[in-house]
Amino acid sequence: MDVKQIVSEQKKFFDQKGTRDIEYRIRNLEKLRDAIKRYEPDIVNAIKKDLNKSEFDTYLTEIGFVLSEIKHTIKHLRRWAKPERVGTSKLLLGSKSTIYKEPYGVTLIISPWNYPFQLLISPLVGAIAAGNCIIMKPSEFTPHVSQCIGQMIEGIFDPHYITVIEGDAEVSQAIMKEPIDHIFFTGSVPVGRIIMAEAAKTLTPLVLELGGKSPAIVECDANLKLTAKRLVWGKFVNAGQTCVAPDYLLVHERVKDELLVLMKEAIIEFYGDKPLENENYTHIVNERHFDRLAKLLEGENEFYWGGDKNREALSIEPTIIDGVDWKHITMEDEIFGPILPVLTFNDLDKAVAEVKQLPKPLALYIFSEDRRKQQFILESVPYGGGCINDTLIHLATPHLPFGGIGPSGMGAYHGKFSFDAFTHQKGIVKQTTRFDVPVRYPSFKDGLKWL
Ligand code: NAD
Repeated sequence: MDVKQIVSEQKKFFDQKGTRDIEYRIRNLEKLRDAIKRYEPDIVNAIKKDLNKSEFDTYLTEIGFVLSEIKHTIKHLRRWAKPERVGTSKLLLGSKSTIYKEPYGVTLIISPWNYPFQLLISPLVGAIAAGNCIIMKPSEFTPHVSQCIGQMIEGIFDPHYITVIEGDAEVSQAIMKEPIDHIFFTGSVPVGRIIMAEAAKTLTPLVLELGGKSPAIVECDANLKLTAKRLVWGKFVNAGQTCVAPDYLLVHERVKDELLVLMKEAIIEFYGDKPLENENYTHIVNERHFDRLAKLLEGENEFYWGGDKNREALSIEPTIIDGVDWKHITMEDEIFGPILPVLTFNDLDKAVAEVKQLPKPLALYIFSEDRRKQQFILESVPYGGGCINDTLIHLATPHLPFGGIGPSGMGAYHGKFSFDAFTHQKGIVKQTTRFDVPVRYPSFKDGLKWL
């Protein structure tokens, strides 16, 4: 695959201006929607092969999610893409000001393996909507999904417009050496740094969707039964391989015991008492990640729940580790697996101060019935986004921006925010030639006084 040629042909295609036509963009979003529906069984199979994800979870978190993004985008695109007339200052008398919504050109979407369909196709929806040409580089760790998406895209789009290039880090590096116009990267913090450094060489605009340690804070006045269910769901769906999964639990010491009993019950209700034998329990993506997670379990004599694993099947039980402190091995990096460390607090101020010692998280979950406490946490910790009394669902609506802050990412997407992520806003003043206001010229006497 000649990357140079692909980029150069996409640039020529973009310059023909066909992708700027709104009806063209809508037709292609419809084509994509129809192809996803046709390919649904293949996508489900491919995700099953790569991650052992159940059909239910695949529909909920990958296919259904993307189809609703496409529907929302088609419905609103004509309005989003319209040039926007804005006010003009007195100084610019006689002129009109307009924001034109311009596609960047050739955009590169690099995606990870944990939601291998959604995290590649959801940005694609924004990139098509904004009128770009697109190169997609899926993760090498989910090869069945990458191949399936490659086939689907090849079947519906001219590669001069949209194409998939499979491969590893070297392939993304090779594409970034070409004069692309924009990068949308989803992945880990260390690789995010590399991508940003590469983009800095050419000052290529970019969006970074990264990760980090997202806390769940449970106050003593929380509805514990619901908290337990929603925490267990958010943590263990996809075997904890979710960028916004609650990474660690910070619970008021007065309610910890009761909450943990309820969480144990929820785990059994969702996955049975032998999750390793549950056919619908998602696996860890590969040996490297399995070994990384197994290391976090080493040296632990007793687990509050779980702790068993099967390397051959790449499966680790939903595991709760109680009695953890801030120096515990699980608190060093993002866990990205089905292991939940539990820390306690009895003073919310101090708990929040501890959370702020760690890099700004991608998400944060507050469980409390007390509005003042909710507001206090919300305003005290800088983080990407999150929920009050739930987990993960803030990313399931096209009405909210989804993204991190600082080390957890920059820029946001979903719904209109995806359109914006792939759009340059060109501000233009159109000046009249019917008259001229001379106050700005040096020859105008007492010009500034006129203002
Ligand atoms: P990763 O950073 O290892 O890889 C992501 C992509 O980057 C892959 O396509 C990979 O081939 C490519 N890549 C890897 N090294 C590269 C390099 N040196 N140069 C150029 N490209 C390179 O991430 P991963 O392990 O696939 O995914 C897990 C991480 O992604 C976690 O940290 C998770 O939190 C994060 N994540 C974030 C979001 C989000 O929306 N913010 C979503 C999912 C995952």
